[in-house]
Amino acid sequence: MTAVHDVLISGAGVAGPALAHWLHHHGIRATVVERAPAPRPGGYAVDLRGVAVDVAERMGALAEIRRGVTGMGRASFVDSRGRRVAGFSSADALGGDRSLEILRGDLVRILHTPTEAYTEYLYDDTLTALEQDGDRVRATFERTAPRTFDLVVGADGLHSATRRIAFGPEERYARFLGAHISIFTIPDHLGLDREARLFNAPGRGSGMYRTPRAEGAKAIFIVRSAGAGGIDRRPPAEQRAYLRAEFGGLGWENDRILDAMDASGDFYFDSVTRIHMDTWSRGRITLLGDAGYCPSPMSGQGTSLALVGAYVLAAELARHGRAEDALAAYGARMRPYVDANQAVADAGLAVLAPRTRRGIVLRNTALRLGGPLVGLLGRLDRRLSDAAEGLDLDAPAPARP
Ligand SMILES: Cc1cc2nc3c(=O)[nH]c(=O)nc-3n(C[C@H](O)[C@H](O)[C@H](O)COP(=O)(O)OP(=O)(O)OC[C@H]3O[C@@H](n4cnc5c(N)ncnc54)[C@H](O)[C@@H]3O)c2cc1C
Repeated sequence: MTAVHDVLISGAGVAGPALAHWLHHHGIRATVVERAPAPRPGGYAVDLRGVAVDVAERMGALAEIRRGVTGMGRASFVDSRGRRVAGFSSADALGGDRSLEILRGDLVRILHTPTEAYTEYLYDDTLTALEQDGDRVRATFERTAPRTFDLVVGADGLHSATRRIAFGPEERYARFLGAHISIFTIPDHLGLDREARLFNAPGRGSGMYRTPRAEGAKAIFIVRSAGAGGIDRRPPAEQRAYLRAEFGGLGWENDRILDAMDASGDFYFDSVTRIHMDTWSRGRITLLGDAGYCPSPMSGQGTSLALVGAYVLAAELARHGRAEDALAAYGARMRPYVDANQAVADAGLAVLAPRTRRGIVLRNTALRLGGPLVGLLGRLDRRLSDAAEGLDLDAPAPARP
């Protein structure tokens, strides 16, 4: 008999609804508090790889995810006048049954919608304090009256409030990887068809990408920076001004993308950061997904870690009589898988935003000629798929800690 009957989850992104599903499956009640007024749409394509595909299948979500895959065709690097200078077909990259690419907003909708029938969602609210009292945790919110739960799970992303409250300031755990990323939807004035067009200036990358069923195109900006004064924590208006200063007047479609950015309804801007923690649990508070082990958007593994983490956490809660044992088992099973996936190089940054003009020319030449870069990408691909397969969902219970 599980010792945990009711769980508060902070965050309704990918990890939160996935955990709500699995808790319900095991007969555990979930309440989800989400800062946004509704599940946040937006985001570029995210990947489900390896055992995360199995988790999606066990959730009964795989068929719908497969219907929503981006069906990405090719990516072209263009110069300031829009002429193609290099490119690759996504079929050359990851593929097959063990790797699916879907727009983040579509995935959030697919995961979230069924959970509404059996999960209480507290939107437009956030945790302000947590107090552990014996076997219960008292949660205080900005708007909702305080409540107590058997367990609190922080699934509130890279800038997790749960982590800050229970484990201390973000700076203690965050490793900034030297870049910022912005993604938002704009009208597709290029008439793209499953194609990405990508542009570079030294230390900067921009692009547009359209999937078959999407209403508009996704625009992306990546800027290498030594810190840029904590711009990721500044208001969106300042982030937009920062992007205007970095990309205005560079040629290609940059000015049109910047013009369309102001009208976009799903502007996303964040730092490229990893979260490293020695432990994800403190008493009856634990962390899941980006909150505990964000591998950075450039690794492409954040969504898989979140889905697999949700499955493992719920399974261990159902398996153990004591919450402490369940959380220890969750940590022990996830640790090697998280380490392996975080160790996969952030090759995306090197390919999408080389630091120097020479780096851009070298990348383009290597892509045109094939050879070493393609070999290197192949090896990285294999490391990535090995890491993504590196957890046994049906592992027997680990030895009692
Ligand atoms: C709008 C958006 C766009 C993204 N786009 C991309 C992308 O294009 N490519 C990519 O690789 N990754 C992207 N990510 C990150 C990616 O979704 C995660 O790496 C991954 O899916 C892991 O999911 P998660 O549930 O742990 O975190 P997230 O998906 O980030 O979800 C966290 C959730 O917690 C909520 N939240 C945050 N703070 C609080 C709080 N104080 N109280 C309550 N709720 C809170 C957020 O609103 C969000 O709904 C994006 C995240 C967001 C929020």
